[in-house]
Order: sequence, then structure tokens, then C-alpha cells
Amino acid sequence: MTTRAVDVGNSAGSSGATIHRERLRRAAAEAAERGLDALLITPSPDYAYLLGYRAPAMERLTCLVVPADGQPVLVLPRLEEPLARHGLGELADALEIVAWDETDDPIRAVQVLVGSALRVGVQDQMWARFALRLQAALDPAQMVAAGATMSALRQVKSADEIDLLRAAASAADNAMLGITAERLSGRTEAEVSRRIRELLIQAGHDDAGFAIVASGPNSASPHHAPDQRVIGVGDAIVLDIGGMRAGYTSDTSRTAFVGDPPPDFEALHAVLRDAQAAACAAVRPGVPASDIDAVARDLITDAGYGDAFLHRTGHGIGMETHEEPYIVSSNPEPLVAGNAFSVEPGIYIRNTWGARIEDIVICTDTGGERLNTTSTEIYLVE
Ligand code: ZN
Ligand code: ZN
Ligand code: ZN
Repeated sequence: MTTRAVDVGNSAGSSGATIHRERLRRAAAEAAERGLDALLITPSPDYAYLLGYRAPAMERLTCLVVPADGQPVLVLPRLEEPLARHGLGELADALEIVAWDETDDPIRAVQVLVGSALRVGVQDQMWARFALRLQAALDPAQMVAAGATMSALRQVKSADEIDLLRAAASAADNAMLGITAERLSGRTEAEVSRRIRELLIQAGHDDAGFAIVASGPNSASPHHAPDQRVIGVGDAIVLDIGGMRAGYTSDTSRTAFVGDPPPDFEALHAVLRDAQAAACAAVRPGVPASDIDAVARDLITDAGYGDAFLHRTGHGIGMETHEEPYIVSSNPEPLVAGNAFSVEPGIYIRNTWGARIEDIVICTDTGGERLNTTSTEIYLVE
């Protein structure tokens, strides 16, 4: 899989440069279609998606200017130029690079490039210190968030991107199998969380992003921060883990139990398991994202746990753990082939216990493909 990494981590290869040239072209076309004269993209996942390397977001302005028609220009501090040229590889030929010196005004450089544009799309995570100064400098141009434009591109994954998501998911599966094979009782949540981070790295992640370990009553808190609670017999444990591998993220949840689960916990988990499987099975092109949420939610509600399903059913995933498309009742957008997202219903009984099952699913022409392949049953641990 190492050659695939050129797609994202390092575009020095010619195939990487071709992919990113095409992405730059499509970003410009998408901007034009949405009535934008230019996109201003600062270091972020959008930036890495377009240019194939990750630049640091910091107090010195780096900004990719993508005109709706015309050649993209990369404005950056001179000291960042070597990193950029190394990361861009052959793609540097497709760009003009404007390097500014410590005493130059980079806002002015962007202003000159944007010229008389009337509507400019600004990267969603651009720092306010740049966004506000650009807004003043570009007046009377209207500045709008570029998120929708970039999501239109990023939420439809290529076959190479899906391969990278599959590899990341399989690495997370290995870490999940590893931790659920260990003795967990007698250890603190924080210790188990640290151990999961080790396993995520051992399994091939470059970065162990997160490892939620929520035990006993803490399992009723969906985003519990692992603490000094010692895991013991009779605890439900929600494990929600993931990280980044070759520029793409993983995210999977399973529920474990220390000792024999009581019948009412088994019943709760069986409802959750059916709901999660039904939502995965409902995935196909043309189905509104809100319908996938409804499939899971209706089954959970019919079983009497509706109030205990505290969150949306899922989120898109790619270069970021949370991105478009969101699987939520307020998103009527139809799924398209190439969408990648989590299906992760949960049931949380306050002060008692909770459970969550999360898989990453790809919408393909023929239906949903789960990237996580571990059992969704309760993991019985010591
Ligand atoms: Zn979450
Ligand atoms: Zn998730
Ligand atoms: Zn998760």
C-alpha cells in the first residue's frame, strides 16, 4: 500500500501531481458553478486535499488562491517555500508560488491576486486574524464560507481514497481486536486508553487520534474522557477508537462487558445491533442521509429506547474524522456512490450503562460496504 500514499502524504510522484492538478481544476469549476470568483484556502484538510501535503497553520499567512478561471497561486512565507516545493513535487509546475519576506504584507499579496473579485470563498477554518484583515482589504467583495464548495468535491471519494479508508479501518479493527483480547478489569480507563493508542500505532496508524474508554456508568456518556476510574466486573465498556493512516482517518466503536452481561443489557445491545445493521443495509445511492438516521432511530424508538439515543447516526469521514455527509434527520441530501460515513447509533441509560456500535460504510453503486469487519456482538472480557 505504500505507493498509494502519494495520493495524499506526498505528491512527489507524477500520479500524485496528476490527481492534484485535477482536484485544483475541479475546485475552480465548482467555485465558478457556485458564483464564486476565487477560493482562498489556508492550511487545513482542504489545503492538503488540493495540494497533497500538509502545511502548518500558524501566524504567518500561507494561502492558496484558486481563481474560478486562471492559474492557482500559492502565497507563503519564504521560509515555508522549501517544505512546499518538497511536498508539491511536480505539482509545483501547475502553480505560481509567491514567497513573501518577513517584512512584506501577505494580505496585500492576496489582495493583488484576487483583484476585483466580487464573491470570494474562504476556507472554513481560516484563522480570524487573516479572515478579518482579508475582509477589510478585499472590500467590497463578499466573503462566504468555502466549506460547501470543498465538501462537494471531498465527500465523493475516489477508488484510491476508499482504499486508504479501508486500510485505516482495518488498522483500527486490529487495534480493537487487540484491546478486547486483553484483561481490562483492574486497569484504569486512562491506562486502557493509552494502551489502545499504542495498538493503533502498532497496527499502522501514523497518529493515534483518540481512544474513548467509557466504563460502568461512564459508558452512558457518549464522549466520556477516559479517567482514573478502575474497570471492574459488571462494567459495560464503550470503546471508540481511531486515528490517521496515510492521510485518512479511522473511527470504530464496539461495546465490551466485564463478566456476564445481565439480560437487560443483552436486550439493549441486541436492539442496538439490529438498528445498526439495518441502517448499514439501507445504504444505497439516492437514499436521503436522513433516511439512514431514521432507519436506526425508528427501531431504537420502537424498542422503547428513543430518548436514550442522544446523537445523530453518523458523520462523513475522510481526511477528517468528521466531515460531510452528516447522517442526521436534518440532512435530506441523497447519498451518492463514493460517500464514506460512520453508522454509529448508541443507547445511553444515565448513571447505569450505555452501548455504541460504529462502522465506516461506503456507499457503492450496489449498496453499502462496511469497512470495519470485526464482530458487532458484545465483547466479553475479563
Ligand atoms: Zn463521536
Ligand atoms: Zn464516529
Ligand atoms: Zn467513533
